[in-house]
Amino acid sequence: MLKINENYLKLPGNYLFAEIRNRVNTFKAQNPKANVISLGIGDVTQPLNEEIVNALHKAVDDMSKSETFKGYGPDQGYDFLINEIIANDYNSRGVELESDEIFVSDGAKCDTGNFQEIFGTDNTIAVTDPVYPVYVDTNAMAGRTGEFIDGRWTNVIYMPCTAENDFKPDLPERRADIIYLCSPNNPTGTTLGKEELKKWVDYAIENGSVILYDAAYAAYISDEDIPRTIFEVEGAKKVAVEFRSYSKKAGFTGTRCAYTVVPKELEARTSDGSMVSINKLWARRVSTKFNGVSYIIQRGAAAVYTEEGKRQTADTIRYYMENAAIIREGLKEIGLEVYGGINAPYIWLKTPAGMSSWELFDKLLNEVNVVGTPGSGFGPSGEGYFRLTAFGTRENTLAAVQRIREGLKI
Ligand code: PLP
Repeated sequence: MLKINENYLKLPGNYLFAEIRNRVNTFKAQNPKANVISLGIGDVTQPLNEEIVNALHKAVDDMSKSETFKGYGPDQGYDFLINEIIANDYNSRGVELESDEIFVSDGAKCDTGNFQEIFGTDNTIAVTDPVYPVYVDTNAMAGRTGEFIDGRWTNVIYMPCTAENDFKPDLPERRADIIYLCSPNNPTGTTLGKEELKKWVDYAIENGSVILYDAAYAAYISDEDIPRTIFEVEGAKKVAVEFRSYSKKAGFTGTRCAYTVVPKELEARTSDGSMVSINKLWARRVSTKFNGVSYIIQRGAAAVYTEEGKRQTADTIRYYMENAAIIREGLKEIGLEVYGGINAPYIWLKTPAGMSSWELFDKLLNEVNVVGTPGSGFGPSGEGYFRLTAFGTRENTLAAVQRIREGLKI
């Protein structure tokens, strides 16, 4: 008899964004004339910039001629992209990496979701709470998280991040093997400073743990003091893997390109006590299950690093961060408690008057036709919070803020 992976049956209800889509679709079906503005799902709205588009066109032309045609590429990515990554994203921050420590992929979602696969299922995971749901759900699918009872997995260490601790997780009380950190953070829009990251690197070194560090929003950091990469912290190469993405940095949510850094210094123990290279295991996994990102798309990603590409990419990031300031200031003015939105494209607000996250979601959808994301969908400590994104158009951002101000005068 065919059997399924029963861990999938333990997953709670709908994936957060599917539930939001259901509620919005139901509302739209009942109110066909309503003009609903979404600052909910973290998708971008601005098109790929000209430099990237030109590179994509040129790469398509390469594919049309036998002299420049490309078939299967290297599993880990083309050197023309990897060299730019190392020079611009790492050497510029004083970090040295070798090219086989970079793995170009089709998304940080896949990589943050798949990476757990190379670790034993008896490891304990620790996540900041609230958190990007992919980390926990993929560990649940692998059978690492225990049972889901009253909104929590029994075998997950939740590290609350709320206004009370300035959204900075405390070290876990019991030992964590796999620690997920995300900075700039989705959903709270806050960042971890160098001292904070050092605390985690030291913990991981002391406890033989690994840090899976999601820096998908690193391009949104403007404060010089905040690390762009965890490898700016001494010792991090021994304990950390870093995930980056072109999705939010350069509008690749639909185009798909990202990369993961797995330092060769990072090792983990087998059951008989010998040490194994995580880089080698991940390379084995990638070469078995992945055939590389398309040549055309990698050419597009490499264009992010030309002088013109950098300028155009920075312009779009500035546009989104101006949206973030509009949301932050506009909502602060009506007395809401607002966090994030300075080194991150997310604004995290406290729901007013003790409303639950979903109550605020329904109120804004039904009364002012604005969609955000309920904080409780990101974990138990997200209850009582609500996320708005800066990725809308300027016009929609201004209109949404105006509507929320009218709907929520407190
Ligand atoms: N990591 C975080 C924290 C995210 O918020 C997202 C997307 O919203 C991703 C990863 C996924 O990025 P990608 O589009 O590269 O799969």
